[in-house]
Amino acid sequence: MKYIFVTGGVVSSLGKGIGAASLGFLLESHGLRIACQKFDPYINVDPGTMSPFQHGEVYVTGDGAETDLDLGHYERFTHSDLTRDNNTTTGQIYETVIRKEREGKYLGETIQVIPHITDEIKKRIRWLGDPERVDVVITEIGGTVGDIEGLPFLEAIRQFWLEENREDVLSIHVTMVPYVKAANEIKTKPTQHSVQKLREIGIQPDILLCRCDRPIGKEARSKIALFCNVQYEEVIEAPDVSTIYKAPLIFHEGKLDSLVIQKLKFSEIKKPNLTKWRRFVEKIENPSYEINIAVIGKYVEHRDAYKSIAESFVHAGVANDTRVHIQWVDSEKLKSSPAFSQLPEYLSDVDGILVPGGFGERGTQGKIEAIRFAREQGIPYLGICLGLQMAVVEFARHVCQLPDANSSEMNAESSDKVVDLMADQKKIFGMGGTMRLGNYPCLICPDTKSWTAYRRENIVERHRHRYEFNNKYKDLMESQGMIFAGICPSNNLVEIIELRDHPWFVAVQFHPEFNSRPNEPQPLFRGFVAAALVHRQDQKYVS
Ligand code: GLN
Repeated sequence: MKYIFVTGGVVSSLGKGIGAASLGFLLESHGLRIACQKFDPYINVDPGTMSPFQHGEVYVTGDGAETDLDLGHYERFTHSDLTRDNNTTTGQIYETVIRKEREGKYLGETIQVIPHITDEIKKRIRWLGDPERVDVVITEIGGTVGDIEGLPFLEAIRQFWLEENREDVLSIHVTMVPYVKAANEIKTKPTQHSVQKLREIGIQPDILLCRCDRPIGKEARSKIALFCNVQYEEVIEAPDVSTIYKAPLIFHEGKLDSLVIQKLKFSEIKKPNLTKWRRFVEKIENPSYEINIAVIGKYVEHRDAYKSIAESFVHAGVANDTRVHIQWVDSEKLKSSPAFSQLPEYLSDVDGILVPGGFGERGTQGKIEAIRFAREQGIPYLGICLGLQMAVVEFARHVCQLPDANSSEMNAESSDKVVDLMADQKKIFGMGGTMRLGNYPCLICPDTKSWTAYRRENIVERHRHRYEFNNKYKDLMESQGMIFAGICPSNNLVEIIELRDHPWFVAVQFHPEFNSRPNEPQPLFRGFVAAALVHRQDQKYVS
């Protein structure tokens, strides 16, 4: 088994995740089988309880783990299907070690960071290294070198070299090489310091990926090589890119993959064929059409909060030969608009409206206004999770004449709880990992927009919710024009709703955005973009 560790230095948000995912993609294209993994040094057991403002999107895996958004990059760039084993936090490591200690498994030992915590970390790296399925494990360490919290992870990596053959372990350090305007110069010192910090811990990086907003040039590369104790070719430029999907191509040009293969001493490697990926990138950059989609959310200032949705639009856009411009609309700002008289200001030129998932009452009024606008104006609508629940509330209030209708999450006293807590959620008290999470099947009715999108009856999608459509209101809503287009067969939960007299109004209880891949767009996103494109063309025709 071969192991690659990816660390980051100087500042956060350097794109380590994209780096790790791109490397995974390239190694796969050489015929190697890879497993990607993320370690997060924070103490939360998982990011499920963290605010999207702080942490960005919570990415849900098929087996129902609430994980770091980098796992989304791994799934979109590589073929690995990830599980809870692919994301580990300090919280999980300590939880396991402390539980074992309480069970008396350590037989009287004093429990310490070294070796007990580091052993548990190493165990989780090796878990993934199943030789039947994997040739290389790529482990990304979250945070920045120098963080106190990250130390046990780096120490565990150091120990890895002692326990494995030298040529089976590789360290890649992602760092920043800033351009300082006043000096009109590229500065290598932050990278030198970051590598020094790593070497203090006992890790000599084998390859440096240098993030920069312009070419670094020969001179600076030589300097970095000299001061950081690596060869010139091992200093690889990672310039800013117009789309993240270009990153693997840039790394391939920089010979990252051949260097890794040579260093890890892989023989009989297949030549990569990147044509399909190249074509995909070209299509992102040169589409024939353009549309505007408004995403009405509470966390819009933090772009990463809706990462997978944004990427799904890239994939669905390519499939429709269309560039999707996303207008991020703060749902709180829509709240006060009297009966959406102000809505056109935000939504004047939109071809589609999407309300994504979310929690809590704040911002829901604005979402309801936007949904009403989409319904009444015949604008294509895609609702995701809370976006389904609020569509149900909007329909109940304005079509079914139930003015007090609400979700019991927003108003437990509502006289018409058209969205209510699921029966099995009523007995749950803890918050972490207790929602309805991960894959559940859904049966799609024929002759619906959803069926046209998926072209099949049985689908499986990922979930993350506590509340559900209240089946007591099914007959009433159906009589008023709502279609129940998808149902979870085992418990009758409503999974998809549509509207009868509307060009394209589909809302789903699950999260389709986690199943979209570059050359395999998620069917509903593809259908939504297609409908928005038709809407745009119709508008032009009318005007
Ligand atoms: N807050 C809602 C629920 O828990 C919706 C969740 C979501 O949008 N992910 O059911």
